Amino acid sequence: MRYFIDIILPIPLQKLFTYSITTAEAEFLKPGMRVAVPFGKSKIYTGLVFRIHNEAPTVYEAKEIHQILDETPIVNSIQLELWHWISKYYMCTLGDVMRAALPSAFILESETVVTKSSLKEVDESLLKDDEFLIYEALHHQSSLKIHDISNILDKKNVLPVIKRLIEKEAIAVEEEVYEKYKPKLVRYVKLHVNYSSEEALQDLLDKLSRAPKQRDVVMTLFSISATTRKPVKVSELSNESKVSPQIVKALIDKGVLEEYYIQTDRVQYSGDENEASKNLNEHQQTALKEVKDSFKNQNVTLLHGVTSSGKTEIYVKLIEEVLEKGKQVLYLLPEIALTTQLVNRLQNYFGEQVSIFHSKYSTNERVEVWNNVLNNSVKARIVLGARSSVFLPFNNLGLIIVDEEHEQSFKQFDPAPRYHARDTAVVLANIHKAKTLLGSATPSLESYFNAKQAKYGFVELLHRFNNVLMPDIELVDIKDKHKRKRMTGHFSDRLIKEITETLDEKQQVILFQNRRGFSPIVECNTCGHSPQCPNCDVSLTYHQYRSQLRCHYCGYNMSMVQDCMACGSPDLDSKGFGTEQIEEEVKILFPDAKVARMDLDTTRGKYGYEKIITALEQQEIDILVGTQMLTKGLDFRNVKLVGIMNADNMLNFPDFRAHERSFQLMVQVSGRAGRTEERGKVLIQTYNPYHNILQQVSTNNFIDMFNEQMNDRYNFKYPPVYKQIKITLKHKDYNRVENASIWFAKSLRQFFGDSVLGPESPPISRIRNQFHKNILVKIPKKQSLAKTKEAIIKVNNSFSSIKDFRSVKVILNVDNF
Ligand code: ADP
Ligand code: ZN
Ligand code: ZN
Repeated sequence: MRYFIDIILPIPLQKLFTYSITTAEAEFLKPGMRVAVPFGKSKIYTGLVFRIHNEAPTVYEAKEIHQILDETPIVNSIQLELWHWISKYYMCTLGDVMRAALPSAFILESETVVTKSSLKEVDESLLKDDEFLIYEALHHQSSLKIHDISNILDKKNVLPVIKRLIEKEAIAVEEEVYEKYKPKLVRYVKLHVNYSSEEALQDLLDKLSRAPKQRDVVMTLFSISATTRKPVKVSELSNESKVSPQIVKALIDKGVLEEYYIQTDRVQYSGDENEASKNLNEHQQTALKEVKDSFKNQNVTLLHGVTSSGKTEIYVKLIEEVLEKGKQVLYLLPEIALTTQLVNRLQNYFGEQVSIFHSKYSTNERVEVWNNVLNNSVKARIVLGARSSVFLPFNNLGLIIVDEEHEQSFKQFDPAPRYHARDTAVVLANIHKAKTLLGSATPSLESYFNAKQAKYGFVELLHRFNNVLMPDIELVDIKDKHKRKRMTGHFSDRLIKEITETLDEKQQVILFQNRRGFSPIVECNTCGHSPQCPNCDVSLTYHQYRSQLRCHYCGYNMSMVQDCMACGSPDLDSKGFGTEQIEEEVKILFPDAKVARMDLDTTRGKYGYEKIITALEQQEIDILVGTQMLTKGLDFRNVKLVGIMNADNMLNFPDFRAHERSFQLMVQVSGRAGRTEERGKVLIQTYNPYHNILQQVSTNNFIDMFNEQMNDRYNFKYPPVYKQIKITLKHKDYNRVENASIWFAKSLRQFFGDSVLGPESPPISRIRNQFHKNILVKIPKKQSLAKTKEAIIKVNNSFSSIKDFRSVKVILNVDNF
């Protein structure tokens, strides 16, 4: 009897490849183990065994594998089942999923480049001969290709040696350069306790009379401390007293000043006693009980809890119970919300049982978490992670929490698999027969809809913890303010007044300016109107090069207007404004305030975001200007005022979810204000204070928002009422992609008629020299999704058999929103 294996290769092949194996290999191999295999003329890949069987392939002669790389599977059968689901549901290949799922160190291939590991010195006596040869070679050369290694060892299959070296941490596979973790300490100074009495201080100043510079430093520190309770940095002190840091150091050496450090970066678990979880208040207790009750007959439950209602503490109770049963927990949250604040909170309760999985971790760090999860190690009982942690090798999952479930960043847009981590989590939990809890203060319409349809359980928590009042939200009509000349730049007199008062009270301010303010929509400076598409309920996008306004959903277009269609004013704005401009204006308006900015530009690097948050927590910042990054579940004690600079550019964003997202963003950012006893204040500047969404935000009326938006979704055939698949075609030649997309859309129409929209050029129609065309397929609930996908695949197959179109790239995006 002959034996074969179907293996997944980490490349986008439609079919699995079959290799032949010996009887002994067949006895040893299991699905989920890696094998090194030859592919094509000279390539070697790492493949993953998917299935072992006796059926020889009919169209090609199966090659033999080179080598088995694992003793035991590194991917379990549950994962393979999940991969299979992802590839079917999101219309991608298993190879795509494999590449997304496995840390790159697991996927050795001909193109892999290895370098000497900088992590640690390796005891060379522990290396086998072949290992040593390579290790040695890396002392002379900074990196080696697989091909070089083959030459050095004079054999073809070298992946096993490389694998062993990686396991011994002697080498690393090439990857992006990651910042290495270094806890960052900021040095602060205070006057030594010996000088706390007035007498002692006077004595000291007398003594320092012959060292005027040192005396200045002490005086300066004294006066800074009198005005603020914030810690004083060494750098700040030397700047303020206009002396070099050496003088400050001299005073520290003398024992006049005392230095101390506050760690600003991620705090690693230090192994202290764990804290007991908090006693829930009555509302939390009820909610917890309701969640548990709903889990009796529902696999998924949505927890709608207003900002600061104490959802996290409820999660903690649920986690405790699951851990007691010896099961694993996955706590998913948007990458950016994965902050020290939350990590510390969970580590306080659960200590070393918490593992963190972050895309900015190096591949070695990721392999470590992977192995801990795979081995069901105590260290990975709870995995706190972003989107990609759904791929970890859980074998005993009891609960998945998806926090901030409404967040768009759970969806991966590029590359394939274009999966949504929340929806994938639900499937993963089902395979494990585990429960999923979705949590949010502003649930997505689709989850709320599912809850309403009783597809999900539903629990509400509408009281803030400690009865802290919801912030007071005020809408500021900037159309009126402009008319009455009460605007300074983008700031209304109301906002300036509130900021001034907040700063006087030594409280902090957050100013929110949506990044999308840069999107090219046209807005009237007099009345705030933006031209809308008559068919789609979205703002038209300004295309400068054609001087046109276009709808990028249905293709409707008109030439650019010269004056406002609503009020006739010729004063039109097509620029939008961004965080940078706001920051500049703030600095001029409030020259004494410490201003910082948080957006994509200022938060690069592993800890960029973290640093700004820490600075805000430590009150080193008075006013923080930022984008939607600010909205992510942060808990700041001293933020009293939140200003939303311009609500209209969010509302007018050309997307069917613009209104839903605007509501979510504004409610979330408002939730940052006044989380302690004092009631927070939110000012929303808008041209259109009577806009329903703004009314709903200011009264925190989720239900009204939901009902109204759902109406639109019915009328305009959008999700969650209809399903949606977006097909994008790309090519560097415009004519070719245009013809190709017309052909594609026409073929789809033969199946789906009017449910096919486009082809249409997106607002940015050329990216990296590739022209894009989009086609949208809308799928009514009663139409079979599987059949729809089959038809699309059929069209796509015929498409790629046309010679002219073969070079056009086709991207399928299921649930592209
Ligand atoms: P949410 O996640 O709903 O925004 P959090 O869980 O962050 O709310 O809770 C808000 C604040 O209230 C946090 O500072 C948290 O520590 C505190 N808190 C919540 N529940 C309790 C409790 N039962 N006992 C003490 N403090 C609590
Ligand atoms: Zn107008
Ligand atoms: Zn349209």
